[in-house]
Order: sequence, then structure tokens, then C-alpha cells
Amino acid sequence: MRTINTQAIKQAVFEACQSIQFRYSKPMEEAIKNYMDQEMGVGKAILKVLLDNSELASNQHIPMCQDTGMVVIFLKLGQQLHLEGDYVIDMINEGVKEAYDVAYLRKSIVKDPLLERVNTNDNTPAVVHIEMTNDDRCEILLSAKGFGSENMSKLAMLTPAHGLKGVEEFVLNTVFTAGPNACPPMVVGVGIGGTMDQAALLAKEALFNEVGDRNPDERYANLERDWLEKINASGIGPQGLGGKTTAIDLFIKTAPTHIAGLPVAVNINCHMTRHVHITL
Ligand code: SF4
Repeated sequence: MRTINTQAIKQAVFEACQSIQFRYSKPMEEAIKNYMDQEMGVGKAILKVLLDNSELASNQHIPMCQDTGMVVIFLKLGQQLHLEGDYVIDMINEGVKEAYDVAYLRKSIVKDPLLERVNTNDNTPAVVHIEMTNDDRCEILLSAKGFGSENMSKLAMLTPAHGLKGVEEFVLNTVFTAGPNACPPMVVGVGIGGTMDQAALLAKEALFNEVGDRNPDERYANLERDWLEKINASGIGPQGLGGKTTAIDLFIKTAPTHIAGLPVAVNINCHMTRHVHITL
């Protein structure tokens, strides 16, 4: 049995909340450069501005975007791991709170969604999904989700009769409807299967892939390539102003489902796609 103090989790969250705000990940930076080579005119110019923005933000230690997001964490805890110290969820929220304070990141969370939209003033609570794993590790998948793109995400409870054609139509229509509102170029997460809630989680977790990752099942990997190509043929382009780069990548995650159902969720990330994967 391995032991980790929850202080270490807090520290990891504290550091991660900041590091993802100031520069694109290397794979994202490379991908934008590659797409830039294929673009012309305004599309090319916008991708250049995005790269310059990332460089500037990194040099001056200011966030790449004013919307510094809602923190979403997938916490994977090994069955052979013992956590000691204060309650892990409290420690995660402490890490978020301190990071958003010291790095002057915008606090964007309201304490009640409908009747009392008062800012909590510390960007907590984070959304935390906990999963058990069969090892002794603690994995933290952390993202800061901007809501321009989150708001354009959708879920559909399709039936098996809708089949592949219905799923494809739903995915592509969701992205086309999102258009400029999701701050393209986007990264698209698709969750297929499970129940309503699981499909949404699959789509969210799909966004933790790195650009260029492909589904291990070649059939789904082909769908990822095909749908990405169709999205980029739409002409929406960077910031919705036209071009070939509407999405940088698209990832599919699947799960077994009920004989009567075909749930599909599409979770959209903007080009910030701020996320990190830490193993303690
Ligand atoms: S969706 Fe992304 S790029 Fe757009 S405002 Fe939010 S964080 Fe910024």
C-alpha cells in the first residue's frame, strides 16, 4: 500500500491551474503551426495571432485568454493507494483557490446557477470526477474549461436506428452550429455509449487527449479522421472568419450501452484546450 498526503495533490492542482494558462501545450503549438502552412489570407493571419498571443502570455506571465475557465478534474485513485491528510476535495479546492489568487486569474464561478448568481470570488468549487483504478497511483487530469466552447456542447439520446449516419449528423451539426461561438479552431470531444451521464463524461474526458492521439480501435480512429476532415471542409475557419482550420483535432471515446439506446455527447474545447495529465 502506497501513501500520498493530500497536500501533494493540492500542490499539483495549484501548479497545474497556473501552468496551463500561459502557453499552448507543445503538441497544440505544433499543430497550429502545421495548419498555418495550409491556410491563406485571414485564416493564416489569425493562427499567427494565436501563436503570438501564446508567446506573449508566456513571456509576460499573463493568461492567454480573459476566460480562465472552470476547473474540471478527473481524479483517478488506485485501489492500493492510501490518502492521508485533509479531505481530498477540500485540498483540491484550496489548490484552485490559491492558484487563481496568486496568478490573478479571473474568478468565474457563481455559487448558484439560477437564483443567486453571486461570484464565489475564488473560482471554486472545481468539478471533480473520481474514478478507482487497479494500481497504487494517483492520476490528476486537470482542465480549465472556457464556457464559450462549453456552452456550444450538446447531448442526444439517439436510438440504435439512428446508427452511424445519425451519430455523424449530430456530431457535425453540433460543431457547425457552434461555429464562431466556440472560438475556433476547436478541439472536439465525442462520447458515444453508456448512459446519458456517461456519454457526457466520455466526451469531456476525450478532450484530455493530446493533438494527434488516435482511438486505439482503428474503426473509431478512421471516424476521427473522417469527421475532422468534414469539419475542416466547412469553411468556418479560425475565429469563424473563413478558412480550413475549424478544428485542430477530434477525439472519440466509447463505452458499452443498453440495447435500446445510442447516447452521443459532443463536448467542445476552444483552441486554448488547457489541460494537463499528472501522475503522483
Ligand atoms: S471559449 Fe476559450 S478562447 Fe473563447 S473566451 Fe472562453 S477560454 Fe477564451
